[in-house]
Amino acid sequence: GALKREEFFLVYQPQIDLATGQICGLEALMRWKHPQRGDIPPTVFVPLAESTEFILLLGEWVLDQALKDLARLEKAGFSLRLAVNLSAVQFKHEELTNAILRFLDSAGVSPDRLELEITESTVIHDERFVERVMDHLHRIGLQFAIDDFGTGYSSLSVLRRLPFDRLKIDRSFIQDVATDAGVKNIVEAIIWMAHSLNLKVLAEGVETDEQLTALKMLGCDEAQGYLLGRPVSLNLLIDRLSREAGRHSTESI
Ligand code: C2E
Ligand code: CA
Ligand code: CA
Repeated sequence: GALKREEFFLVYQPQIDLATGQICGLEALMRWKHPQRGDIPPTVFVPLAESTEFILLLGEWVLDQALKDLARLEKAGFSLRLAVNLSAVQFKHEELTNAILRFLDSAGVSPDRLELEITESTVIHDERFVERVMDHLHRIGLQFAIDDFGTGYSSLSVLRRLPFDRLKIDRSFIQDVATDAGVKNIVEAIIWMAHSLNLKVLAEGVETDEQLTALKMLGCDEAQGYLLGRPVSLNLLIDRLSREAGRHSTESI
């Protein structure tokens, strides 16, 4: 009943282009405000939803809501890339492509604004099918990011063959990138590999200036994390974008 009672909502975390320091994208993250139990984190309710067909309904709600919000952002004068998390179950469902096309159309948003984040395990499960769906959506203009990179079973042939645009290095590596030489070497190797495969690299979970400096030195393209912005409501995000746009326009004068 939570979906009908409108207890779910989305927050948005900015993704920063490290070359310009500007917000280049957003990740939509789901929240559940339970009337008695308060805020329940997605790490609790998403796996629960995934164990039943409910994730399909919930996943469609996320896509629909996120694209409506993206349209609102565009109306406010901000055109950004918006990333939405997809679970493996959603990906295997035949209806996914149609639902995405329907939501894009009704929101009036161009497909190249939408990025889908999927994990390595999603791909490994049913590679052929996933490849077909991804190719179709990619041809329409959608972008794809590989989420939590480095934590699952990676297959380099999958990375090469599937139409990924971006690789997101998992927070567990970023945590130690400024303090552990071994981790720094791994991150450097991931960035190098990703770039040779024509993928942009985004670092997840950046919390300190030291991590950010290290990532810039290693040639990382983009970053996301509490240091650069916590996930916030759409209204707060529009406030921040407006403030930053104001600052940029005075800077250019
Ligand atoms: P994720 O996709 O890896 O999302 C990143 C998580 O890291 C988010 O947690 C975000 O709030 C958190 N985070 C961001 N920056 C930092 C940082 O600097 N430090 C730390 N410690 N954490 C940071 P959140 O929102 O609790 O989401 C947890 C997971 O739940 C997500 O991990 C994703 O797997 C799943 N999830 C969230 N929303 C959705 C959704 O709409 N659909 C699906 N299928 N899964 C979702
Ligand atoms: Ca994600
Ligand atoms: Ca992640």
